[in-house]
Amino acid sequence: MAVRRPSALSDRELGSAYPFLPGAEAIVTELAPSLRDLITSPVYDTARELGRARIRTAIDDPTGGTPVPALDSAAPELRYLSFLYARLLLSAAPAAAPLRRWAVAEAKQGSGRVAAAPIDEFLEVGRRLGFSLTGTAEGILVPLTDYLHLATPIREGDYRLVRQSLRAGQVLVARDRAARLLQEGIRLRLTQPLAVADDARTALTEGDSEFLADVLRRVPAPSTRLGSGGGPLLPDRFPPCIRRMRRLLESGENLSHAGRFALAAFLHRGGASFDTIVDAYRGAPDFDESITRYQVEHITQRDGGIGYEPPECATLRSHGLCYRDGDPTGPAPVDRAPDPLCHEPFLRHPVQYYRIRGGSVVERGAGDGGPLGGGSSSR
Ligand code: SF4
Repeated sequence: MAVRRPSALSDRELGSAYPFLPGAEAIVTELAPSLRDLITSPVYDTARELGRARIRTAIDDPTGGTPVPALDSAAPELRYLSFLYARLLLSAAPAAAPLRRWAVAEAKQGSGRVAAAPIDEFLEVGRRLGFSLTGTAEGILVPLTDYLHLATPIREGDYRLVRQSLRAGQVLVARDRAARLLQEGIRLRLTQPLAVADDARTALTEGDSEFLADVLRRVPAPSTRLGSGGGPLLPDRFPPCIRRMRRLLESGENLSHAGRFALAAFLHRGGASFDTIVDAYRGAPDFDESITRYQVEHITQRDGGIGYEPPECATLRSHGLCYRDGDPTGPAPVDRAPDPLCHEPFLRHPVQYYRIRGGSVVERGAGDGGPLGGGSSSR
């Protein structure tokens, strides 16, 4: 039976706690600042400074785990304006990577708050984001179309539709999983830059030019170490799936955990050094040096340095990571076209592809299958 009730939070409280919600701007109706006021007036100095603090904190820690100084004690209107200024400034920035990284941190903070909120607040946030969630004694019901929209970018095996419980056209998920879906909805919303008119863009980028330059310096940049030709790797011989994973990270887009695992395991098998593998993730919007080092170490140091076996093609396909039919967003014709070698019936593994194309791989011991795919003597 549905247990949905109206939210106990006022619009003002909701707009302050979840400034990304449509309609949250109503919180500043009485102040009614113009865009120019917000960008230049001394009256809004504090809002702008708090907005910069939101950005700085997110760029340094995209996990959303670091509190923004002075944000909790700020008035709701100030909190909202600081959010709006941060979003405007990053929408006007000359590169997209800071906006993406900030969106990850804000989405994680928002979903963390909603995950711990009363059920009526949880459902209200979902409703205002445009998702008709229903609370039941068993969990949260998510309309099928909403589920597909939110779960597709996550692309974790556990979120695949075939693994979900369906109830009359809706997907039943546990509350923590519903919060993760909302996190994705928030991230997708905030990753879209606001339309900023030319005069406002100029005022933003010129008024905060030093701050933006510092932000761009702080955003971890994707490494070109793989393509330098100085190591054993031959990136132009990589299979389409691995090339696509690298492109995603280099352009500051998200790569699923299954993709991150596959890429690290593949690069390790190709002879990349530990630091080279870590560098491959620097463009990820949520890149964290210590977490990445820990995860790469886990993947590459298993069994005394043998490491996990990269997943085979069938496994990558099941995770939506195979691009043998071409990547429509690829930069070159070769990326967009179907790959003949990938369509050969004998081709079963990305490492096998790489070896056939002339890449060298590190030989492995027997019985070393990884968690996402088993070893094969034919690679
Ligand atoms: S067929 Fe295999 S090697 Fe080719 S893109 Fe798909 S997963 Fe990668």
